[in-house]
Amino acid sequence: MSDPKSTDRLRRVRGLSKYNLQVDTSPQFDRDESAKLFENDLIITLIKTKNGICAAILLAHQILYDKKHVDYVNINHLSDRQCVINGRLLKCVTIPEQLFWYFDLNECIRECISIPGALIQCLTLPQPLDKNDDMWYPGGLIYKIETRILKLLIDSHWEKISNLLAKFPVAKSTMPLPYRLADGKPGLLCESANAENSVDDPTSSKWICFTCRKSIDKKKMWLHIGIHIVKNDVSSCVCGFCGRISHCSIALQRTVQKTIKVISNCPFFFDLQYGRARKISKSSPCTNVPVECPICYLVVWKYGWKQHQDSEHEGGQFEKKFLETVEITEQEIKWMKSL
Ligand SMILES: [Zn+2]
Ligand SMILES: [Zn+2]
Ligand SMILES: [Zn+2]
Repeated sequence: MSDPKSTDRLRRVRGLSKYNLQVDTSPQFDRDESAKLFENDLIITLIKTKNGICAAILLAHQILYDKKHVDYVNINHLSDRQCVINGRLLKCVTIPEQLFWYFDLNECIRECISIPGALIQCLTLPQPLDKNDDMWYPGGLIYKIETRILKLLIDSHWEKISNLLAKFPVAKSTMPLPYRLADGKPGLLCESANAENSVDDPTSSKWICFTCRKSIDKKKMWLHIGIHIVKNDVSSCVCGFCGRISHCSIALQRTVQKTIKVISNCPFFFDLQYGRARKISKSSPCTNVPVECPICYLVVWKYGWKQHQDSEHEGGQFEKKFLETVEITEQEIKWMKSL
Protein backbone atom coordinates (compact mmCIF):
# COMPACT_ATOMS: atom_id res chain seq x y z
CA MET A 1 0.00 0.00 0.00
CA SER A 2 1.15 3.50 -0.76
CA ASP A 3 1.65 5.65 2.30
CA PRO A 4 1.16 9.31 1.36
CA LYS A 5 2.72 10.62 4.58
CA SER A 6 6.00 8.83 4.15
CA THR A 7 9.07 10.90 3.35
CA ASP A 8 10.63 7.89 1.70
CA ARG A 9 9.84 8.51 -1.92
CA LEU A 10 9.98 4.96 -3.21
CA ARG A 11 7.65 3.81 -0.48
CA ARG A 12 5.35 6.76 -0.99
CA VAL A 13 5.22 6.43 -4.73
CA ARG A 14 5.36 2.75 -5.33
CA GLY A 15 4.13 1.51 -2.01
CA LEU A 16 7.30 -0.35 -1.28
CA SER A 17 10.14 0.12 1.09
CA LYS A 18 13.68 -0.46 -0.01
CA TYR A 19 15.16 -0.09 3.43
CA ASN A 20 14.97 -1.35 6.90
CA LEU A 21 14.63 1.99 8.53
CA GLN A 22 17.04 1.46 11.36
CA VAL A 23 16.85 4.46 13.60
CA ASP A 24 20.26 5.67 14.58
CA THR A 25 20.23 6.35 18.29
CA SER A 26 23.15 8.79 18.24
CA PRO A 27 22.16 12.27 19.42
CA GLN A 28 22.44 13.93 16.05
CA PHE A 29 19.37 12.13 14.80
CA ASP A 30 15.89 12.27 16.22
CA ARG A 31 12.82 10.23 15.47
CA ASP A 32 10.83 13.02 13.84
CA GLU A 33 10.12 11.74 10.32
CA SER A 34 8.99 15.09 9.01
CA ALA A 35 12.28 16.85 8.48
CA LYS A 36 14.72 14.34 7.13
CA LEU A 37 16.66 13.72 4.02
CA PHE A 38 16.44 10.08 3.04
CA GLU A 39 18.47 8.21 0.50
CA ASN A 40 16.82 8.47 -2.91
CA ASP A 41 15.25 11.83 -2.08
CA LEU A 42 15.69 14.58 -4.61
CA ILE A 43 18.10 17.41 -3.86
CA ILE A 44 19.24 20.56 -5.59
CA THR A 45 22.67 22.12 -5.43
CA LEU A 46 24.82 24.66 -7.28
CA ILE A 47 27.78 23.48 -9.31
CA LYS A 48 30.61 25.23 -11.13
CA THR A 49 30.61 24.63 -14.88
CA LYS A 50 32.32 26.12 -17.92
CA ASN A 51 29.29 28.37 -18.39
CA GLY A 52 29.25 29.56 -14.80
CA ILE A 53 27.43 28.39 -11.70
CA CYS A 54 24.33 26.38 -12.43
CA ALA A 55 21.75 24.25 -10.67
CA ALA A 56 22.04 20.49 -10.53
CA ILE A 57 19.21 18.18 -9.57
CA LEU A 58 20.36 14.95 -7.97
CA LEU A 59 19.21 11.83 -6.23
CA ALA A 60 20.69 11.53 -2.78
CA HIS A 61 22.36 8.18 -3.46
CA GLN A 62 24.28 7.90 -0.20
CA ILE A 63 24.23 9.91 2.97
CA LEU A 64 27.43 9.95 4.97
CA TYR A 65 27.76 11.30 8.48
CA ASP A 66 31.17 11.24 10.07
CA LYS A 67 32.24 9.04 7.12
CA LYS A 68 29.64 6.47 8.14
CA HIS A 69 26.79 5.46 5.93
CA VAL A 70 23.36 6.43 7.34
CA ASP A 71 19.86 5.90 5.95
CA TYR A 72 18.79 9.47 6.57
CA VAL A 73 19.83 12.69 8.21
CA ASN A 74 17.78 15.27 9.99
CA ILE A 75 17.81 18.36 7.81
CA ASN A 76 18.99 20.47 10.75
CA HIS A 77 22.21 18.49 10.56
CA LEU A 78 22.75 18.81 6.84
CA SER A 79 25.06 21.76 7.32
CA ASP A 80 27.22 19.93 9.85
CA ARG A 81 30.77 19.56 8.65
CA GLN A 82 30.52 15.77 9.02
CA CYS A 83 27.60 15.49 6.61
CA VAL A 84 28.36 14.59 2.99
CA ILE A 85 25.90 13.56 0.31
CA ASN A 86 26.91 11.41 -2.65
CA GLY A 87 24.45 12.45 -5.30
CA ARG A 88 23.61 11.06 -8.71
CA LEU A 89 22.99 13.77 -11.25
CA LEU A 90 19.66 13.57 -13.02
CA LYS A 91 19.40 14.17 -16.73
CA CYS A 92 16.51 16.22 -17.97
CA VAL A 93 14.03 16.27 -20.79
CA THR A 94 12.88 19.69 -21.93
CA ILE A 95 9.96 20.94 -23.93
CA PRO A 96 10.16 23.92 -26.27
CA GLU A 97 8.05 26.41 -24.37
CA GLN A 98 10.28 26.10 -21.33
CA LEU A 99 7.67 26.50 -18.65
CA PHE A 100 8.64 23.22 -17.10
CA TRP A 101 11.66 21.02 -16.65
CA TYR A 102 11.28 17.27 -16.54
CA PHE A 103 13.62 15.03 -14.58
CA ASP A 104 13.40 11.29 -14.80
CA LEU A 105 14.56 9.32 -11.78
CA ASN A 106 15.51 6.46 -14.07
CA GLU A 107 17.84 8.74 -15.99
CA CYS A 108 20.74 9.63 -13.77
CA ILE A 109 24.45 9.35 -14.32
CA ARG A 110 26.15 6.52 -12.46
CA GLU A 111 29.12 8.42 -11.16
CA CYS A 112 28.38 10.14 -7.84
CA ILE A 113 29.14 13.74 -7.04
CA SER A 114 30.27 14.20 -3.47
CA ILE A 115 28.69 17.31 -1.95
CA PRO A 116 29.01 18.81 1.53
CA GLY A 117 25.56 18.64 3.14
CA ALA A 118 25.67 22.40 3.68
CA LEU A 119 25.48 22.94 -0.07
CA ILE A 120 22.29 21.05 -0.74
CA GLN A 121 18.64 21.74 -0.38
CA CYS A 122 15.90 19.10 -0.32
CA LEU A 123 13.53 19.20 -3.24
CA THR A 124 10.10 18.28 -1.99
CA LEU A 125 7.87 17.51 -4.89
CA PRO A 126 4.38 16.20 -5.44
CA GLN A 127 3.79 12.83 -7.09
CA PRO A 128 5.58 12.00 -10.34
CA LEU A 129 3.70 12.26 -13.63
CA ASP A 130 0.77 9.99 -14.25
CA LYS A 131 -0.50 8.28 -17.38
CA ASN A 132 -2.40 11.33 -18.60
CA ASP A 133 0.72 13.37 -19.15
CA ASP A 134 2.33 13.32 -22.58
CA MET A 135 5.74 12.72 -21.07
CA TRP A 136 4.68 9.65 -19.15
CA TYR A 137 5.97 6.23 -20.10
CA PRO A 138 5.54 2.87 -18.38
CA GLY A 139 7.99 2.47 -15.51
CA GLY A 140 9.04 6.13 -15.72
CA LEU A 141 9.40 8.21 -12.57
CA ILE A 142 9.21 11.64 -14.05
CA TYR A 143 8.96 14.83 -12.06
CA LYS A 144 7.78 18.02 -13.63
CA ILE A 145 9.09 21.23 -12.08
CA GLU A 146 8.05 24.72 -13.02
CA THR A 147 10.92 26.81 -14.37
CA ARG A 148 9.70 29.74 -12.27
CA ILE A 149 9.94 27.67 -9.08
CA LEU A 150 13.39 26.39 -9.99
CA LYS A 151 14.64 29.92 -10.61
CA LEU A 152 13.35 31.09 -7.24
CA LEU A 153 14.99 28.09 -5.59
CA ILE A 154 18.30 28.73 -7.33
CA ASP A 155 18.37 32.38 -6.26
CA SER A 156 17.40 31.75 -2.66
CA HIS A 157 19.85 28.88 -2.42
CA TRP A 158 22.65 31.06 -3.77
CA GLU A 159 21.90 33.70 -1.15
CA LYS A 160 22.17 31.06 1.52
CA ILE A 161 25.39 29.41 0.41
CA SER A 162 27.32 32.02 -1.59
CA ASN A 163 29.85 32.32 1.24
CA LEU A 164 30.78 28.68 0.53
CA LEU A 165 31.55 29.32 -3.14
CA ALA A 166 35.04 27.87 -2.82
CA LYS A 167 33.52 24.51 -1.84
CA PHE A 168 31.05 24.20 -4.72
CA PRO A 169 31.64 21.02 -6.73
CA VAL A 170 33.12 21.40 -10.19
CA ALA A 171 31.28 19.64 -13.03
CA LYS A 172 33.32 17.22 -15.10
CA SER A 173 33.14 17.65 -18.86
CA THR A 174 31.31 14.31 -19.09
CA MET A 175 28.40 15.60 -17.00
CA PRO A 176 25.32 16.99 -18.75
CA LEU A 177 25.74 20.38 -17.07
CA PRO A 178 24.62 23.06 -17.38
CA TYR A 179 21.26 21.63 -18.35
CA ARG A 180 20.37 22.67 -21.86
CA LEU A 181 17.28 24.47 -23.11
CA ALA A 182 15.45 23.21 -26.18
CA ASP A 183 17.59 25.52 -28.36
CA GLY A 184 20.81 24.14 -26.89
CA LYS A 185 21.58 27.20 -24.77
CA PRO A 186 22.61 26.64 -21.16
CA GLY A 187 19.70 26.69 -18.72
CA LEU A 188 19.14 26.86 -14.97
CA LEU A 189 22.20 29.06 -14.57
CA CYS A 190 22.47 30.91 -11.29
CA GLU A 191 22.32 34.36 -12.78
CA SER A 192 22.96 36.31 -9.60
CA ALA A 193 26.08 34.26 -8.88
CA ASN A 194 27.36 34.58 -12.40
CA ALA A 195 26.80 38.34 -12.43
CA GLU A 196 28.68 38.72 -9.15
CA ASN A 197 31.48 36.47 -10.34
CA SER A 198 31.91 37.65 -13.87
CA VAL A 199 35.09 39.33 -14.81
CA ASP A 200 34.51 43.04 -14.73
CA ASP A 201 35.02 45.70 -17.29
CA PRO A 202 38.48 44.93 -18.75
CA THR A 203 39.42 48.60 -18.60
CA SER A 204 38.87 48.75 -14.84
CA SER A 205 41.95 48.43 -12.65
CA LYS A 206 40.17 46.03 -10.27
CA TRP A 207 38.92 42.48 -10.38
CA ILE A 208 36.35 40.84 -8.12
CA CYS A 209 37.83 37.85 -6.29
CA PHE A 210 35.84 34.64 -7.01
CA THR A 211 36.40 33.44 -3.47
CA CYS A 212 35.70 36.41 -1.21
CA ARG A 213 34.16 38.76 -3.81
CA LYS A 214 36.28 41.69 -2.67
CA SER A 215 37.43 44.13 -5.29
CA ILE A 216 41.19 43.65 -5.70
CA ASP A 217 43.76 45.63 -7.61
CA LYS A 218 44.61 43.63 -10.76
CA LYS A 219 48.32 43.60 -9.96
CA LYS A 220 47.64 42.26 -6.47
CA MET A 221 45.18 39.48 -7.33
CA TRP A 222 47.90 36.83 -7.60
CA LEU A 223 49.20 37.71 -4.13
CA HIS A 224 45.61 37.88 -2.84
CA ILE A 225 44.91 34.32 -4.12
CA GLY A 226 48.17 33.13 -2.54
CA ILE A 227 46.89 34.43 0.80
CA HIS A 228 43.60 32.55 0.34
CA ILE A 229 45.57 29.33 -0.25
CA VAL A 230 47.88 29.82 2.73
CA LYS A 231 44.89 30.57 4.94
CA ASN A 232 43.11 27.43 3.62
CA ASP A 233 40.15 29.39 2.24
CA VAL A 234 40.57 27.41 -0.95
CA SER A 235 42.20 24.12 -1.88
CA SER A 236 45.94 24.25 -2.51
CA CYS A 237 45.55 23.05 -6.10
CA VAL A 238 43.61 26.08 -7.38
CA CYS A 239 44.71 28.36 -10.19
CA GLY A 240 47.19 30.79 -8.67
CA PHE A 241 45.70 33.71 -10.59
CA CYS A 242 41.99 33.30 -9.85
CA GLY A 243 41.62 30.71 -7.06
CA ARG A 244 39.33 28.37 -9.00
CA ILE A 245 39.77 24.65 -9.60
CA SER A 246 39.98 23.19 -13.12
CA HIS A 247 38.99 26.32 -15.01
CA CYS A 248 42.31 27.61 -16.28
CA SER A 249 45.26 26.21 -18.15
CA ILE A 250 48.84 27.03 -17.27
CA ALA A 251 52.09 26.57 -19.18
CA LEU A 252 55.70 27.72 -19.08
CA GLN A 253 57.63 28.93 -22.06
CA ARG A 254 61.39 29.37 -22.28
CA THR A 255 62.23 32.55 -24.18
CA VAL A 256 65.29 33.14 -26.37
CA GLN A 257 66.74 35.25 -23.56
CA LYS A 258 66.56 32.06 -21.44
CA THR A 259 63.93 33.56 -19.15
CA ILE A 260 60.70 31.79 -18.33
CA LYS A 261 57.36 33.14 -19.41
CA VAL A 262 54.07 32.11 -17.84
CA ILE A 263 51.15 31.50 -20.20
CA SER A 264 47.56 31.02 -19.05
CA ASN A 265 44.00 31.44 -20.28
CA CYS A 266 42.92 32.58 -16.81
CA PRO A 267 40.72 35.69 -16.87
CA PHE A 268 42.90 37.06 -14.04
CA PHE A 269 46.16 36.32 -15.80
CA PHE A 270 48.82 38.89 -15.34
CA ASP A 271 52.37 38.91 -16.57
CA LEU A 272 54.13 37.32 -13.65
CA GLN A 273 57.86 38.11 -13.58
CA TYR A 274 59.01 34.57 -12.97
CA GLY A 275 62.44 35.30 -11.50
CA ARG A 276 61.23 38.07 -9.24
CA ALA A 277 58.13 36.23 -8.08
CA ARG A 278 60.25 33.41 -6.71
CA LYS A 279 61.98 35.66 -4.18
CA ILE A 280 60.29 36.49 -0.93
CA SER A 281 60.02 39.97 0.53
CA LYS A 282 57.93 41.27 3.35
CA SER A 283 55.61 43.24 1.09
CA SER A 284 55.32 40.43 -1.47
CA PRO A 285 56.14 37.15 0.28
CA CYS A 286 54.19 35.00 -2.18
CA THR A 287 56.28 32.63 -4.31
CA ASN A 288 53.38 30.73 -5.86
CA VAL A 289 54.74 30.32 -9.39
CA PRO A 290 53.94 27.51 -11.83
CA VAL A 291 56.52 24.72 -11.79
CA GLU A 292 57.03 21.81 -14.13
CA CYS A 293 56.90 18.38 -12.54
CA PRO A 294 60.19 16.62 -13.44
CA ILE A 295 58.44 13.24 -13.56
CA CYS A 296 55.21 13.81 -15.50
CA TYR A 297 56.00 17.29 -16.92
CA LEU A 298 52.66 18.65 -15.80
CA VAL A 299 52.84 22.33 -14.87
CA VAL A 300 51.39 22.85 -11.41
CA TRP A 301 51.33 25.78 -9.06
CA LYS A 302 54.01 25.72 -6.37
CA TYR A 303 51.47 25.92 -3.55
CA GLY A 304 49.74 22.88 -5.02
CA TRP A 305 52.98 20.95 -5.51
CA LYS A 306 52.67 18.96 -2.28
CA GLN A 307 49.23 17.76 -3.31
CA HIS A 308 50.49 16.82 -6.78
CA GLN A 309 53.46 14.94 -5.32
CA ASP A 310 51.31 13.08 -2.79
CA SER A 311 48.56 12.13 -5.20
CA GLU A 312 50.62 11.38 -8.31
CA HIS A 313 54.12 10.42 -7.22
CA GLU A 314 53.95 8.98 -3.75
CA GLY A 315 57.43 7.80 -2.83
CA GLY A 316 58.81 9.32 -6.06
CA GLN A 317 62.44 10.46 -6.09
CA PHE A 318 63.07 14.11 -6.85
CA GLU A 319 66.36 15.92 -7.12
CA LYS A 320 67.31 18.04 -4.15
CA LYS A 321 67.72 21.05 -6.43
CA PHE A 322 64.14 20.73 -7.63
CA LEU A 323 62.74 20.21 -4.14
CA GLU A 324 64.42 23.45 -3.09
CA THR A 325 62.53 25.34 -5.76
CA VAL A 326 59.17 24.08 -4.47
CA GLU A 327 59.94 24.54 -0.80
CA ILE A 328 57.72 26.98 1.06
CA THR A 329 59.57 28.49 4.02
CA GLU A 330 58.03 29.22 7.39
CA GLN A 331 59.00 32.85 6.94
CA GLU A 332 56.91 32.99 3.76
CA ILE A 333 53.87 31.46 5.46
CA LYS A 334 54.26 33.80 8.43
CA TRP A 335 54.47 36.88 6.23
CA MET A 336 51.64 35.70 4.01
CA LYS A 337 49.35 35.17 6.98
CA SER A 338 50.19 38.63 8.32
CA LEU A 339 48.93 40.34 5.13
ZN1 LIG B 1 39.54 36.91 -2.21
ZN1 LIG C 1 42.51 31.06 -13.15
ZN1 LIG D 1 54.00 15.02 -11.78
